[in-house]
Amino acid sequence: MSAPISDSVSPAPANAGRRQVLVTSALPYANGQIHIGHMVEYIQTDIWVRALRMHGHEVYYVGADDTHGTPIMLRAEKEGITPKQLIERVWKEHKRDFDSFGISFDNYYSTDAEENRALCNTIYAALQQAGLIEARDIEQAYDPVKEMFLPDRFIKGQCPKCGAKDQYGDNCEVCGSTYQPTELINPYSVVSGATPIRKTSTHYFFKLSDPRCEEFLRGWVSGLAQPEATNKMREWLGDKGEAKLADWDISRDSPYFGFEIPGAPGKYFYVWVDAPVGYYASFKNLADRIGLKFDDWVKPESKAEQYHFIGKDILYFHTLFWPAMLEFSGHRTPTNVFAHGFLTVDGAKMSKSRGTFITAQSVIDTGINPEWLRYYFAAKLNSTMEDIDLNLEDFQARVNSDLVGKYVNIASRAAGFLLKRFEGRVQDSAMNHALLADMRATIPQIAAYYESREYSRALRTTMELADAVNAYVDTAKPWEQAKDPANAVALHETCSVSLEAFRLLSLALKPVLPKLIEQVEAFLGIAPLAWADVAVPLSSGNAINAYKHLTTRVDPKQITALLDANRESLQPGAEAAPVVKAAAPKEEESFISIDDFAKVDLRIAKIVDCKAVEGSDKLLQLTLDVGEEKTRNVFSGIKSAYKPEDLVGKLTVMVVNLAPRKMKFGLSEGMVLAASAANEKAEPGLYILEPHSGAKPGMRVK
Ligand SMILES: [Zn+2]
Repeated sequence: MSAPISDSVSPAPANAGRRQVLVTSALPYANGQIHIGHMVEYIQTDIWVRALRMHGHEVYYVGADDTHGTPIMLRAEKEGITPKQLIERVWKEHKRDFDSFGISFDNYYSTDAEENRALCNTIYAALQQAGLIEARDIEQAYDPVKEMFLPDRFIKGQCPKCGAKDQYGDNCEVCGSTYQPTELINPYSVVSGATPIRKTSTHYFFKLSDPRCEEFLRGWVSGLAQPEATNKMREWLGDKGEAKLADWDISRDSPYFGFEIPGAPGKYFYVWVDAPVGYYASFKNLADRIGLKFDDWVKPESKAEQYHFIGKDILYFHTLFWPAMLEFSGHRTPTNVFAHGFLTVDGAKMSKSRGTFITAQSVIDTGINPEWLRYYFAAKLNSTMEDIDLNLEDFQARVNSDLVGKYVNIASRAAGFLLKRFEGRVQDSAMNHALLADMRATIPQIAAYYESREYSRALRTTMELADAVNAYVDTAKPWEQAKDPANAVALHETCSVSLEAFRLLSLALKPVLPKLIEQVEAFLGIAPLAWADVAVPLSSGNAINAYKHLTTRVDPKQITALLDANRESLQPGAEAAPVVKAAAPKEEESFISIDDFAKVDLRIAKIVDCKAVEGSDKLLQLTLDVGEEKTRNVFSGIKSAYKPEDLVGKLTVMVVNLAPRKMKFGLSEGMVLAASAANEKAEPGLYILEPHSGAKPGMRVK
């Protein structure tokens, strides 16, 4: 049985007339850098926004830094600055990163703003008025040294199930079990190290369990675009009368960096209250500046559409709390919420030790064009919540083959002849060529794919068109036509068709590659492309400009540099992920003692003989002199990097006290040391160590 559609769910109107559309991306937390995992969402939103703008709709895309809460307060304290100084600095970094990636916010603001305080107060007062706010005394963990209440993530201790040390108050990362912070053995506050005590405090709750909320949400859920989101919502709501929704604790005790709750001294709005309200605050700030009527967009009778792009991990906040807060405070509710999956790099979670926790800044610093990443992410994104993978090899191959090989080359091949032989003017009759007619008929479908967030289909279709254009050029062979002046008309036609095809491909790629297409528009001497321009071909009345190099290939060296840059950021204290995390592991934990190191007996070894191993394509067999009576036999997986004869007579470093290992080919009595990249796939190569001259076999390395 399907739930009735509530009045407040406004289905997206048909594409009639000029739509008013307000779009947001989730607010990044202001305690760290933007990484490419975040960028997936901003790029996804930005492409959507740009594709809608190209229809001529009135679209506003707003964002802000999420600035409040305990982690910000503690981080500022650690750095010896005020929270306001911290969030101001981070805001500038975030803004710079978004600008570099072409994220076209109409306003990028902060939740620590007066507009936001006023809106929070208004919404809270309305919810109070509606009888949906309740004060309740609750008992909570309290740090008696730091004199603050401790969120679950700020308490650590031994796991009650497996005994693992230093586990968070809500779940164990070793055995995966979940529990209450009160169940931890030997709990301690990560802020001061003190043992938490229990203390009672008054908290304010938003009564999500109220039947009115449940009824409203049951209706609202039926308007959600993604089946996965709808299913999640139904699971949270349960069956009618099951009363599965719990009230939501929206207050936090002082000390807290945030907005004090009116009429409740020492109590603050929980950061998750003022973060989504921050969407409206950012828009209010914009509306006031450019003379829009804010109420026309946010009141229940509003004709505007409102969309939120988010990660699937914050669906709960955006599909339960946020719409309910809006509904019962006299506002319109979101038209839809679009959730996406997470990013993996080379098939694994982003990792600092492998250098795949890639910051936006490092992309810029290593000269990687952010539009390449926009293209690659778009080629993988669809309307579901599936995770997407950045495979660095595939990234290079796809950018080089699609953007350079298939797309840009069309322009560079056509432009030369056109400029040299035909004053840079197209042949008007060529604009009716059948190839172009087919392309023009396909472009509206591509625009529709963007709007339904099926970007991978949009780009696949675009590249199919590019293939057709390249096949046309290969058949016409303009380089042959150019040899005989009698073929001038045919050559002119080939180049004109190619260039108009290039214009149409540029139109199809514009939401994804805004900066590149701006260069294309300048080269073609045309006004900024919009979807309607599909029907406005190039004209002989308008000469093209000199062709300038449009984009370059991805250089594998840049990828290596990118991974290196991000590995280097793994310094204690350089922790950068803007996620709400309590504290970095204690620094000592990543060190070993000198005694641990002394256990490894490292010696200089002379390679007296070296042979290939029959039946193995990886191993070399080394005979090593380490100053003992007898030589040692070692099998080493270095065949890919060395010829046996090149190693004979060389010195290297060997672990002599490694337990002997029986292998298929014989006994291996130790190990030689070799260096390799963390990501051997991206950067192959093995380098055995060699001491400076003067070292003798058997010398201890310490
Ligand atoms: Zn455990």
